[in-house]
Amino acid sequence: MIIAIDGPAASGKSTTARLVAKGLDFTYLDTGAMYRAVTFAVIEQAVNLNDKTQLHTLLTGIELELSTRAEQTEIVLNGNDVSEKIRSVKVTGMVSAVSAEPAVRKAMVALQRRIGAKQNCVIEGRDIGTVVFPDAEFKFYIVADYATRAARRQKDLEKQSEHRSLKDLIEDLKIRDIKDSTRTHSPLRQAADAIIIDTSNLTIKEQVTLIVDQVKRRHNKVKK
Ligand code: C5P
Repeated sequence: MIIAIDGPAASGKSTTARLVAKGLDFTYLDTGAMYRAVTFAVIEQAVNLNDKTQLHTLLTGIELELSTRAEQTEIVLNGNDVSEKIRSVKVTGMVSAVSAEPAVRKAMVALQRRIGAKQNCVIEGRDIGTVVFPDAEFKFYIVADYATRAARRQKDLEKQSEHRSLKDLIEDLKIRDIKDSTRTHSPLRQAADAIIIDTSNLTIKEQVTLIVDQVKRRHNKVKK
């Protein structure tokens, strides 16, 4: 069974997806981490995105190992643990451009489908319910207002000793939303059959319970 959880950056998607996976004892897949790892490799190898041969060489040489446990995303790129490095400001600033590349999407979607075909999964991203698993049994689209999203992002960054103003963070989020939702390939958008959850005024526990209850309720109905 696939539970697709999509939505914009800092909407509360990751925390929710992780805890839903834990609550249901499902595998958890953070697809944003995959795009971030490719972006890290693009920066490290100074690949020019306009040079498709260079990008192709990078993609064919890439080896990604992902932990699929709900507790944390551990990601190993060509033998190096990049779990923390992929969260840097530099990677965050460039990830939308890298993930807009069709060759990058093709490679990551294939990997996501392979993982999802093998096990019950909660998969979070931008295009899971629309493109990667359009037949997912459950689709949720998580949103929140900009003030809430920026405050959440600020808190996360402070844990890494990075201090940014809310105004700046709102700007960053708006830019990333525009890039993610206006790109030609697999833009961020809600699947027609997705359930929208606005987490602006919900606690983490409330948003997780909302999803887990819906899944359990509908699943029991289907089984009867
Ligand atoms: O979820 P997170 O903020 O880590 O995602 C980083 C970026 O990866 C997004 O801004 C988006 O550009 C890209 N992404 C994507 N498709 C996904 C997941 C993430 O294009 N399924």
